[in-house]
Amino acid sequence: APLNILSFCENLIDEMRLNDQAQHQIRFEPEADVSEIRGYMDAKLMRQIFTNLLSNALKYSPAESTITFRIRQDQTHVYFEVQDQGIGIPESDQVRLFEAFHRATNVGMISGNGLGLAIVKQSVEIHQGQIQLTSHENQGTMVQVMLPLRPQDTEILD
Ligand code: ATP
Ligand code: MG
Repeated sequence: APLNILSFCENLIDEMRLNDQAQHQIRFEPEADVSEIRGYMDAKLMRQIFTNLLSNALKYSPAESTITFRIRQDQTHVYFEVQDQGIGIPESDQVRLFEAFHRATNVGMISGNGLGLAIVKQSVEIHQGQIQLTSHENQGTMVQVMLPLRPQDTEILD
């Protein structure tokens, strides 16, 4: 059945807030018109995408800093943005981050396997969507995901 994207995101954000030891300000900003969107998306893959992006935002940004999660839509697509004010990613590291096991050079003691974004990218591609990362070192990172409301010919999403 089509997924109610707004309530899916609300539930996920609630979960992230409950598990966030570092007391970030997690802001959820859906545009007014998204309240009724339903999309042909796989709930498990959607969970993979947004738990990974939100946990990166939490992990790579200081305690109590602001993380903003936006959603908007048009006739054909839904657009998500996860933005943080964290350590950012040096430009030279940005190209390879969607490959498994690649981590940026500025992670310091923050632990990770370098798998999250590779999984996210695959899950986005299964939905015939697109992903884009914009980041400035020591300023923050924004990841944008665009997904079609009705992907074509994808058996996995039926
Ligand atoms: P895990 O497999 O546990 O997710 P990870 O977080 O290291 O480990 P990815 O989520 O794939 O792996 O991210 C790859 C790398 O991209 C990270 O190691 C980090 O260098 C960088 N990165 C990802 N998201 C952010 C972010 N929001 N802010 C700063 N750096 C980030
Ligand atoms: Mg990660």
